[in-house]
Amino acid sequence: MAPLPPRRRPARTGGAIDPVGGAGRCALPVRAIVAFVYAPASWHTGFAMTPMTAESEPSDGPMPAGTGRPVRLSLTRRAGRPARHLADLSRDERRQVAVSLGQPAFRADQLSRHYFARLVDADETEAMTDLPEGARGPLLEALLPRLLMPTRTLSCDDGLTRKIAWRTADGALLESVIMRYPDRATVCVSSQAGCGMGCPFCATGQGGLTRNLSTAEIVEQVVHAARVLRRRELAGGEGRLSNVVFMGMGEPLANYTAVTAALRRLIAPPPEGLGLSARGLTVSTVGLVPAMRRLAGEGLPVTLAVSLHAPDDELRDELVPINTRWPVAEVLAAAWEYAEASGRRVSIEYALIDGVNDDVARADALATLLAGRLAHVNLIPLNPTDGSSWRASAPAGQRAFVRRLRARGIATTVRDTRGREIAAACGQLAAEPAGRARHVESATTVEAAGATNGSPAHGNRVLR
Ligand code: SF4
Repeated sequence: MAPLPPRRRPARTGGAIDPVGGAGRCALPVRAIVAFVYAPASWHTGFAMTPMTAESEPSDGPMPAGTGRPVRLSLTRRAGRPARHLADLSRDERRQVAVSLGQPAFRADQLSRHYFARLVDADETEAMTDLPEGARGPLLEALLPRLLMPTRTLSCDDGLTRKIAWRTADGALLESVIMRYPDRATVCVSSQAGCGMGCPFCATGQGGLTRNLSTAEIVEQVVHAARVLRRRELAGGEGRLSNVVFMGMGEPLANYTAVTAALRRLIAPPPEGLGLSARGLTVSTVGLVPAMRRLAGEGLPVTLAVSLHAPDDELRDELVPINTRWPVAEVLAAAWEYAEASGRRVSIEYALIDGVNDDVARADALATLLAGRLAHVNLIPLNPTDGSSWRASAPAGQRAFVRRLRARGIATTVRDTRGREIAAACGQLAAEPAGRARHVESATTVEAAGATNGSPAHGNRVLR
């Protein structure tokens, strides 16, 4: 491969991370979190690591073997344990809970149908007429606690996009985004409160990780979206949720157990789960190779989206810091294993950043990596985040990048940057406190250099 051109060094203006080792005000915490979760002996920039205090149990994500240092996780706040919810449990487990309350086992199925099929909210007890009044309270308390409280809701795109900011019972913040399209409706969900991966272009990554979300906290975001659509609360009339993308806050495969359980719950028909098609589910990752391989063996025919963002390790080390642990070649090898096991095309996510990774030489290098593979490239014009001077590639640059890939036979689309004006687009989800929220009512403009697939990007999360 011909040498790739040097990229322009990004200037940042007070963001949480300086990706090139400069003097970003809060550079230490996020880097330290990433370094301690994945524990390289030293950071690629030579950043000096000092031990940090673990405040919670570590993530159940894949921990690299043999990397030397014990894995410890430092969180930005003390984490709590969410209350048990029926979506955390299998059908049999729910039935056991009902029996333990002195109720027939089928009461658990009745409650599950209210939640998954009728999309009844936890406080709409009057709708649960098939449950004896005396049984409702104990059953709801044991199986349907309120896990997420909406703190604000913002809309744009003529009411077709809605971002919901949530607060968990222990005060963790997260966001999800519902997007309505002519042919489908998608919800982008968070798998963690915050994120420890530290990608410098992503607002979520700049805040660090608070904690993993539980299975039910993930599922609740999806059930809420289905409810909103069914009740015509989004523009466009009554709708049915068709797609779920794990591209909100967090690295889904770093919360492996909860995410895979949530996938199963979303696919299973009521009363076990929501009954969505697995083909409508997409899990993104920055490239946690052991977890990608494990997912390939789960028998879950969901789409895998790999947030690549650069074809070369030198640049990807900076854009996606975990690349220093699992470089491009290893990530793509795991992606092709997943494609073979699932029979599903892998989505390669690539944020186009002006003057950083959008040169045609990198388009050629990317095409070389993907030639002949079961893959599709999803280009994401970078969405702006506070504190970063990086910006999206100019339209002409986007078009040139697309042309170059397509000329090499690589299926390529440009992502619709839905929700940009309410910080709901890829890379923008930051779970700001309500007082800092911006109110935007105008529509977002969609920039596209080619076809659009309309799915969100990771980190706006949805930017990956
Ligand atoms: S892009 Fe994804 S993995 Fe990277 S910091 Fe943002 S949320 Fe985390």
